Amino acid sequence: MQVAVVGVQGDVEEHIISVRKAFEKLNINGKAVATRKRGVVSESDAVILPGGESTTISKLIFREGISDEIIQLAEDGKPVMGTCAGLILLSKHGDEQVRRTKTKLLNLMDIWIKRNAFGRQRESFQVELNVRGIGKFPAVFIRAPAITKVGRDVEVIAEYGEFIVGVKQKNVVGLAFHPELTEDTRIHEYLIKMYEGEI
Ligand code: GLN
Repeated sequence: MQVAVVGVQGDVEEHIISVRKAFEKLNINGKAVATRKRGVVSESDAVILPGGESTTISKLIFREGISDEIIQLAEDGKPVMGTCAGLILLSKHGDEQVRRTKTKLLNLMDIWIKRNAFGRQRESFQVELNVRGIGKFPAVFIRAPAITKVGRDVEVIAEYGEFIVGVKQKNVVGLAFHPELTEDTRIHEYLIKMYEGEI
């Protein structure tokens, strides 16, 4: 199994390390590769869109044509995960900030997002969340978006206060927080298990 991490900008290396650790834990001989070019995502079995700055990542993936490959992978039923900025890119319904910055979205999840939803006072924080299918998980939020509404086919897997912060729509998973910034690899294991057909 090969997992591609879209590596144009953001916390790419942390995801690569988490995927490698997850493979080790599951005793699977898999590969994790970062990519900035077309041609890698299309040859992979799963893809991760990391956190970072969604407008910047969007420009690069659409310019390089990686966006089409991500959409194709999702349509083929392969696991796709976006964290933080990656969650914004997976969504179908942007907010005022997305429109103002003309950020193109991948339209893969029927969700409404709000960028920087937690305000300046709470730029970054960690809380323990109950994530469906995983259990209690240490969630790190950094200038995180939130999900304000979901469509009918979307399963809510994590909530924090009034906001939805984790969603799953078939083979596509979106998280407002950063599982790659903790030692806990269960969410990366979850992605691998989705490919193995265990989830
Ligand atoms: N605030 C960023 C954005 O809106 C996301 C932050 C992150 O990915 N850590 O693009």
